[in-house]
Amino acid sequence: MTQYKTSVPLLGFAAYSGTGKTTLLEQLLPKLTEAGLTIGLLKHAHHDFDVDKPGKDSYRLRKAGATQMLISSRNRHALMTETPQEEASFEYLLTRFDQTELDVILVEGCKNIAFPKIELHRDELEKPWLHPNDSNIIAVASDSDVDTDLPQININDVDAIAQFVFSYVSNYVSDSVSESHSKIASKSASNAACCDTLSPAFLSVEQGQEKILSTIKPIELIQSISVADSYGSILAEDIVSPINVPQYTNSAMDGYAIRGDDIGQAAYNVVAEVMAGHSFEQELKKGEAVKIMTGAPTPMGADTVIMREQATQNDGQRNQISFTTSDIRAGQNVRQAGEDLAKDQTVFEAGTKIQSAEMGMIASLGFGECRVKRKIRVAIFSTGDEVQAPGTPLKPNSIYDSNRFTLMGLLEKLGCEVVDLGIIEDDKSLMIEAIENAANTCDMVLTSGGVSVGDADYIKLALDKLGHIDFWRINMRPGRPLAYGQINTTPFFGLPGNPVAVMVSFLNFVEPAIRKMQGEANWKPLKVQALAEESLRSRQGRTEFSRGVYSHNEFGQLTVKTTGKQGSGILRSMSEANCLIEITPEVDTVKAGESVTIIPLQGRI
Ligand code: AMP
Ligand code: MG
Repeated sequence: MTQYKTSVPLLGFAAYSGTGKTTLLEQLLPKLTEAGLTIGLLKHAHHDFDVDKPGKDSYRLRKAGATQMLISSRNRHALMTETPQEEASFEYLLTRFDQTELDVILVEGCKNIAFPKIELHRDELEKPWLHPNDSNIIAVASDSDVDTDLPQININDVDAIAQFVFSYVSNYVSDSVSESHSKIASKSASNAACCDTLSPAFLSVEQGQEKILSTIKPIELIQSISVADSYGSILAEDIVSPINVPQYTNSAMDGYAIRGDDIGQAAYNVVAEVMAGHSFEQELKKGEAVKIMTGAPTPMGADTVIMREQATQNDGQRNQISFTTSDIRAGQNVRQAGEDLAKDQTVFEAGTKIQSAEMGMIASLGFGECRVKRKIRVAIFSTGDEVQAPGTPLKPNSIYDSNRFTLMGLLEKLGCEVVDLGIIEDDKSLMIEAIENAANTCDMVLTSGGVSVGDADYIKLALDKLGHIDFWRINMRPGRPLAYGQINTTPFFGLPGNPVAVMVSFLNFVEPAIRKMQGEANWKPLKVQALAEESLRSRQGRTEFSRGVYSHNEFGQLTVKTTGKQGSGILRSMSEANCLIEITPEVDTVKAGESVTIIPLQGRI
């Protein structure tokens, strides 16, 4: 077989026209990109094909004589090269790809050129088989069986074809250039370990998040609640100020109010004392001051307040004061009406989460109630024969249910209403009934355990009956298995069983979904950089979330260390942690002293 010089694997799809090569590739590419492959595609077309249309600028410039026409925009660029004499060679065309950016080059057509190919065959076309006469064919995808030693795939089983391509790419060993620089070397190393898991889908953390969020819709139901009960709720409508805050111009200090055009007198006559909640109704004249308390309205004409500590009472003149400072500016220590909030100003937009300050602000505008999104109702239950409710004597071979309680806390923190369905027995019909009920009465259903690939748990059987649920493997640790889908439009999350994995999966996938449902669009957790106090091991190709403790070192820098052993069953590590340390897929080891991303957990768990 001719070896074309590519640093990435090359794989063709050979078939007679009419077999549906393009349609197949169109279905195949999303599966391959989803599995993390970056794909180059070379397609052979008929000699009269053209890229752009008459009238387009690039077309006009080519026709006007540009032999190479490079057109570029924000989203793509294309090089069109005129080759009137002779078609470019296959080998030359391969060099046109930027192979450092690719994991594989797929070729559609070029069936007479010698490079590895999958033969596509459909009986109905009544065309001859290619593989008996082409030693470059490495597999056959067909709708019928054929007598060959080559691997055979059903041409209609796109998953199986994707699986084959993925294994081919993963097992490809390049003999060109040292590959330490290329992303292919590391990718295929990491993919090799997961090529058996293309189906069910193998997703990155971001891909999982995107897929989930694309299906989540903000909840529409609105209720009025008293401000006193509003903590954690999400505003359903803008809060518009009906008043000026402060309502009237007032003193910011306990002290003496004078006129701003009367600064610098040796002494002032104190003509009144104004307490908060009262007022002095006359205009203040030059030479006069009023004794004024914080929050009390400044009298007409008085626009400057000097604090009490800078005033002395003149001996024998009880009603006369002088100031001990010469540093007095007109207008000082006075809060103007409407200075904090002007009447009709939008104070909070719909979607704002009400926390302590918001509660106070809303009350400060005079509202006793506010319109909020109805709390998201989340059903939770545990499954598994070994899982036992706390508060009962522990049976042999059992563990107490911790996940349900962790989830209760996490959901409460997000302002959800928890519907606790307890532990559901491993009985298919009971489970179907429980999940169906939950989906009909709640906004989201969460379970933990029983979603690993190969797990025989009943939850899978039940879910199969109920809706469209995907069993994913997320390229992350902990928390690889994740089931997600809809039971009659109600989002369902099947979280992993391990207690730490439950929390990490919740933080990564469930929390953003709940926040979106609550109307908080594009929420992202806070991430900051910290110096690793110890070496952190990870594996390339997956996102590693270690439990970390961050603090400040003697130089004031943010540093982080792990909580120690990182087993996904060690819930204590989550309790000791104040952050997750996130190591992204490209990185395999973080050395002590290097910078690493941390996700603080305060306020989230
Ligand atoms: P599974 O994914 O069902 O195989 O569960 C993985 C691990 O998590 C097993 O060791 C289970 O015993 C454990 N596990 C499953 N559900 C719970 C739960 N509700 N509370 C605590 N541990 C659990
Ligand atoms: Mg289980």
